[in-house]
Amino acid sequence: MSVLVTGGAGYIGSHMVLALLDAGQDVCVIDNLTTGYRWAVPEQVSFIEADVGDKGAVRQVIERHDVDAMVHFAGSIVVPESVSDPLGYYHNNTVNSRSLIECCVETGVKNMIFSSTAAVYGTPAVSPVTEETPTDPISPYGASKLMTEWMLRDTAFAHDFNYVALRYFNVAGADPEGRSGQSNPAATHLLKALMRTALGISDHMKIFGRDYETRDGTCIRDYIHVSDLIGAHLAALSYLRDGGESGVFNCGYGHGCTVLEAIAAVERVLDQKINVVDADRRAGDPPELVSVADKARSVLGWTPKHDDLDVIVQTAYDWEKILNARVDAAE
Ligand code: UDP
Repeated sequence: MSVLVTGGAGYIGSHMVLALLDAGQDVCVIDNLTTGYRWAVPEQVSFIEADVGDKGAVRQVIERHDVDAMVHFAGSIVVPESVSDPLGYYHNNTVNSRSLIECCVETGVKNMIFSSTAAVYGTPAVSPVTEETPTDPISPYGASKLMTEWMLRDTAFAHDFNYVALRYFNVAGADPEGRSGQSNPAATHLLKALMRTALGISDHMKIFGRDYETRDGTCIRDYIHVSDLIGAHLAALSYLRDGGESGVFNCGYGHGCTVLEAIAAVERVLDQKINVVDADRRAGDPPELVSVADKARSVLGWTPKHDDLDVIVQTAYDWEKILNARVDAAE
């Protein structure tokens, strides 16, 4: 019995692989390495470099490793890119997910955990949002993920197959043991931009809009430490293996901070000033996106352990330093 992790060489997937190994589980990874790194997957893990849309490769892994559960991270995640390349996003996120779900049905894999996103809510009329808040994605990225949720729902209705779709809020931070983190230099997320500025890799970071109707004019997000997000996946895995019902779950802490509060936390934790410049609003940014995540706690039994912005900042910084040292050593 083993767990197949798609996208296991990426930011969140690599943390899942480490957590499964820590828990003594058998794990195998399929990743096409477009945004992931081979070194992010420990040597003892079976690694298949292939596209998740390659049904032959996926079926072979499932059969060879006696896979009973799939954790599906592989996909494209850049919202503006999804606007300029919608068909690419529907291919990578929706068509390839359909192919994986079909592989599960055909080979008898009964459990799937899917990386969904708070982007399915679009610009919600209410905050915080529950799983019952109407979905109304405003980007092809959000739509591509929501369509996969629908395919999972309908497949679970028709077949002996169960799923948990986790709607991620803003994932940040890195493995507290320094084994993995956000390694993609092209990542544009707030914490990544802040760390790159703190280390002098970037000269400054931009604040995208100070004129929102929030407590200080900047956008509010529910930042969740990547290790807690992985904790929700582990809880979902046990839940599904124990016969739990399919469902959709928010993954956040249920409270948010503004961009300025995040900058202040970085300055406090690192004891250094961050060079910021004001910039225009970024298209498609909702003013506030905060979860109600009670369902994951009560149904999956998830208990977050790192609900602390300072811990997110410190672990993100420690990882960025490790990455930076590697780049320096390679040059
Ligand atoms: N943000 C910012 N500067 C940056 C990156 C992000 O001001 O360099 C803001 C962004 O406008 C949003 C918040 O930080 O309000 C979180 O953005 P991020 O890209 O991290 O995640 P998103 O919420 O878009 O998924």
